[in-house]
Amino acid sequence: GGEARAGNGGAAKMPEIRHTKLFINGRFVDAVSGKTFETRDPRTGDVIASIAEGDKEDVDLAVRAAREAFDHGEWPRMSGSERGRVMLKYAELVEQHAEELAALESLDAGKPLAVARVVDVGNSVDSLRYFAGAADKIHGETLKMSRQLHGYTLREPVGVAGLIVPWNFPAIMFFSKVSPALAAGCTMVVKPAEQTPLSALFLAHLAKQAGVPDGVINVITGFGPTAGAAISSHMDIDVVAFTGSTEVGRLIMEASARSNLKPVALELGGKSPLIIFDDADLDKAVELAISGNFFNKGEACFAGSRVFVQEGIYDRFVQKIADTIKNWVVGDPFDPRVNQGPQVDKIQYDRVLRYIEHGKAQGATVLTGGKPCGKKGYYIEPTIFTDVKDDMIIAKEEIFGPVMCLMKFKTVEEAIRRGNDTRYGLAAGVVTRDMGVANRMARSIRAGVVWLNCYFAMESTCPFGGRKMSGFGKDDGMHALDKFIAVKAVVCPVDASPW
Ligand code: ADP
Repeated sequence: GGEARAGNGGAAKMPEIRHTKLFINGRFVDAVSGKTFETRDPRTGDVIASIAEGDKEDVDLAVRAAREAFDHGEWPRMSGSERGRVMLKYAELVEQHAEELAALESLDAGKPLAVARVVDVGNSVDSLRYFAGAADKIHGETLKMSRQLHGYTLREPVGVAGLIVPWNFPAIMFFSKVSPALAAGCTMVVKPAEQTPLSALFLAHLAKQAGVPDGVINVITGFGPTAGAAISSHMDIDVVAFTGSTEVGRLIMEASARSNLKPVALELGGKSPLIIFDDADLDKAVELAISGNFFNKGEACFAGSRVFVQEGIYDRFVQKIADTIKNWVVGDPFDPRVNQGPQVDKIQYDRVLRYIEHGKAQGATVLTGGKPCGKKGYYIEPTIFTDVKDDMIIAKEEIFGPVMCLMKFKTVEEAIRRGNDTRYGLAAGVVTRDMGVANRMARSIRAGVVWLNCYFAMESTCPFGGRKMSGFGKDDGMHALDKFIAVKAVVCPVDASPW
């Protein structure tokens, strides 16, 4: 694995880094403090670029620009179809720059370039187009109230949105928040993750080219406890939409409570069950378990990291997955043969390796992997543990790396009970040919999405977001608009005279 198999990666064309400053009111500017931080290449740990380090003062400036654009600008006042037209233009520009965007994602986040082109760019463009189409379908209702009263509702943009996103899918996460916020008519301050600031700045530049008015999208690069906290505790931000860890989600909610009680939407961690029944197609089940755990090097909140396999198929499943994983290539994400790139940074890399050591120490068996690979950079072998008990650390905590836990079960009831025995409730997968079992599982698992005979089947059309400590509020689908829209009731007497 690692470097050894990724010989020609260095020959791939590297993207030019054109945008490294904060984007406020339609211009790229330095941080007020003049400070910068470094974003690094996870293949080597080397510096890619120095990026402006935004903090509270910069967030204030961005919020002021967003507030001005909201209170007096054209964006919230345009018709939905006009906003939709600008968003379609934006989508077209993103599509035209697919190669550059994919390369930025690969370089900054360590994703295979071929995957970034299809998944990360594809999903970004789809999201813009989906919400462009939604922009002119946001409308209220007419209310028949008591005899003397006529009422209706307006669905208005809520105002200035703070959008805080993580590093695992930088462009997709950007658009999962930005697209519905734009469609709703909000203005916004976006904070990309400090590990992966490049694509958000590039996308801000494309937004301007597309004709998104100045001040509508502002991007503040910087760290969580400074720039991020300035957003969540800001008195003039009307809503915060966040994707990230459960731990930080709690801080965001606290910051809201302590400041202006802005509503928050939280898309947080997961420890999702992937439940494979005896009658499953074995090849398909193995393929889903592998992609469900090792896609994006396991840096996915919706990873199916607890794989429950029914006892009748268990031994064959273990054999088959051990054989199949040998074809999974870890290495330079710019090499087209590679399935899995490096973890995003040293912190995540060390964290994942610590979890692997916990697994070994608590008595789980390493079926495959279990160690780092490559001479430099943050590569980890795809790791599969067997003999995992439900109460082991690796079975309970979100690892966010290429680590799969295999567990055996007997009955449907047991699968439901153990599948639900987690603080999280983000996703679940069920593999069976029995429709009765599939439907029963779909109703019994407490999660935001249940994938039957598939995994990671995500599209802009389909609401996504968790329950329990995986958070609340939806990304994608028409429900994603809800957090950016305020419902206002307007009431008047049918006949004004008695009033
Ligand atoms: P992860 O643990 O996967 O790195 P985080 O939840 O730490 O994810 O980060 C997700 C996003 O939240 C990033 O943009 C990060 O900078 C931001 N963030 C981190 N800490 C805070 C905080 N205290 N307040 C607001 N945002 C934060």
